[in-house]
Parts: sequence; structure tokens; C-alpha cells
Amino acid sequence: MSTIIDGKGLALKLRSKIKEEVSQFKNEGHRSPHLAAILVGDDGASQTYVASKERDCQFVGFESTVHKLPADTSEQALLDLISSINATDSIDGLIVQLPLPKHMDASKITEAIDPRIDVDGFHTISVGRLTKNEDTYISATPFGVMMMLAEYGIETKGKHCVVIGRSNIVGRPMSILMSRGGYPGESTVTLCHRYTQDLASHTSRADIVIVAVGIPHFLKGDMVKEGAVVIDVGITRVAADNQKGYALQGDAEFDTLVDKCAAITPVPGGVGPMTRYGLLFNTLKSYKSKIIQ
Ligand code: NAD
Repeated sequence: MSTIIDGKGLALKLRSKIKEEVSQFKNEGHRSPHLAAILVGDDGASQTYVASKERDCQFVGFESTVHKLPADTSEQALLDLISSINATDSIDGLIVQLPLPKHMDASKITEAIDPRIDVDGFHTISVGRLTKNEDTYISATPFGVMMMLAEYGIETKGKHCVVIGRSNIVGRPMSILMSRGGYPGESTVTLCHRYTQDLASHTSRADIVIVAVGIPHFLKGDMVKEGAVVIDVGITRVAADNQKGYALQGDAEFDTLVDKCAAITPVPGGVGPMTRYGLLFNTLKSYKSKIIQ
């Protein structure tokens, strides 16, 4: 019988801890932690993500500010806004929701955020520190996955971990974290991507498979060995006959994997809520670095 990793329940438990901590800081007379978000354009999924981040902030007692800019905002206007937020000492975290409109250089925008409030962990300085196993803001999704592995006591030392997908925000940092010293970590990592030959020959030898490709039901039961741990990062909106008009599907074919795996994350209710927790964790970390001298 495999363990279904309850990311939703775990994130709620961890968020509640943050809420208690924030309330204690406030009782001691400190201000609230403050997360600022910038949303450019009207992408539906991005609006949903930002709205859920606002709700999370409200839940834990953070202040949150969302700057909604039209899709035709100039890159310079966005850079100016980032610069003014960087200079506001009472703001602990700044995120710019991706993707950005095509006329903007996402890399340039990411680099404009002060690394001290880069709670998404996308800045080159944050990534560099992560690579060197130094203290930093780890981007929310890989951070959430690491927390999940730790909370469920999943063994990683000496295990073979296959990460599928090499994006800067998920797959690549995930592969670095799983191979680093400490727990979770110490795994032998194979990083697979769209040009990997015979993917199943890698996944079928893996003790842990972390899949982040964005293709629904990409990883199937016959691609993993008995007793593997599967972490499904994928979230794809597919049309559905419900009130929202869509449903979320993961990259793992849950039904063919569940009986074979030692543990597996569902979609929804797996990595997604832990990602949201990761952002709160990083914002609180930044806040504490200012409040606790
Ligand atoms: P991306 O498009 O930037 O990267 C996808 C990766 O998949 C690429 O590195 C590519 O090489 C690899 N890939 C594509 N086709 C492949 C194939 N046939 N075989 C092997 N590798 C292949 O995507 P991303 O930003 O890393 O996101 C991946 C998925 O994770 C998406 O569904 C996204 O929505 C989801 N996501 C979820 C969360 C969360 O909180 N759960 C957070 C971020 C992203």
C-alpha cells in the first residue's frame, strides 16, 4: 500500500506554525511581514496564483500588496517599480509573477530584484548560493519538495534520484538540492530533459523520480520500479465540465503508479500547496533577518 503524500495537509500545518510565529512577533510590538507581488497582464493562471498567494498572506497575518500592471506596460516602468520596492525597507519579499509579456526580458527583470528580498530565489545570486550550498532563498517549488521529503522521512542518502525537466525554477535547482550534502540530499542524481534518450531506462532504475515537464500523465506506471517514490510537480490546466471549466492534471499517471510506488504526491493537493508554503517561509526568513538583530 503506497503512501499518498498529503501536501495540502502538510502545508496547512506548516502555514499554521508561521501564523503563530507572526502573531508572536506582533505581540512583541513588531510590524507585520510584508510580501509585494507584481502581476503584468491578464494571464488567467497567473491571476489565480497571485490571488492564492494573497489569501495565504492573509491567513498567516502578512501584509500583502499586489501591483497589477497592464500587459503593455513598458519594461522601464516595471524596472522603476521594482527599484522603488527594493528601496522600501518595510517590504520583506518581492515577486514578479512569470510569465511576463513577450516585450519584456524576464532575466533582466529577475536580476533587478534586490537579492535580499528575492523570496522566489530566481536571482543569479540566490541560485549561485544554492549551488554552493550556502544560506539563501531556495525557490519555492524545490524548497517545498525538500520539506515534503523531510516531513515524510523519505530516505535520500545514496539513493538514485531521477529529475525530469531542467528548468531554472524547478528541475535544475531540484537536481542540485538532491545531490548536495545533508538531508534531504546525498542522492546520486540523473537530470533528464527533452533530449534524453530512452528515458524509461533511467526512470526504471530510480528510487526517487521527480517529474516537472508540464505534460499531463507523462510518467506512467511501467516506467518506474516497485517501491519508487514519485514526486509530481506538473500542473496543467485541461478543459473540464465543471464550474471552473478546467481541471488540474499532473505529469504522473497516478492510477498506473499508485499501487507500484512506496509514496506518491497527488495533483492537486501535492507539491502545489507546498510551493505556496515555500514563499511564505522565505518571506518570513527575510522579515526575521531585519527584525532580529
Ligand atoms: P518548463 O517548460 O520550463 O520546463 C519543462 C522541462 O521539461 C524542460 O526542461 C524540458 O527539457 C523537459 N521536457 C519537455 N519534454 C520532455 C520530454 N519529452 N522528456 C523529458 N523531458 C522533457 O516547465 P517548468 O516551469 O519547469 O514547469 C514544469 C511543470 O511544473 C509545469 O506543469 C508547471 O506548471 C509545473 N509547475 C508546478 C509548480 C507547483 O507549484 N506545483 C511550480 C512550478 C511549475
